[in-house]
Amino acid sequence: MKEFVEKKIMIVEDNLVNQKVMGRLVKIFGHEPILITDGFEAVEQVKLQKPDLILMDIQLVGITGIEITQLLKGDEILKEIPVIAVTASATAEDKERIVRESGCDDYLAKPFLPKQLYDKIAKFIDVKEIDLN
Ligand code: MN
Repeated sequence: MKEFVEKKIMIVEDNLVNQKVMGRLVKIFGHEPILITDGFEAVEQVKLQKPDLILMDIQLVGITGIEITQLLKGDEILKEIPVIAVTASATAEDKERIVRESGCDDYLAKPFLPKQLYDKIAKFIDVKEIDLN
């Protein structure tokens, strides 16, 4: 049987309520959340902490999640880290534009159900088997 390994998931989110909820869910999914509120700090912390996956809010103060993701995807090493954009922009055009402009690996629209976050993360890394239904 394969042993479950806890990984680091960075949550870049400036809404503290959302950040807290996502952090709790990530723990329930078996992983260690790294909570980042400031977009400028995000790039620095990615370099320092080398997370296994990033949940990236798009609407941040001063710098957008699109710009942060562009910076990460322009780096030979950091570009390997999967980035899931998380945004309230809900139209198909918004989604297509964000993915194209940022180079993010996937997209999750807010608001989302725990199961939807679980399924997105599970596309990239192992998650604990839990029943969310
Ligand atoms: Mn935001």
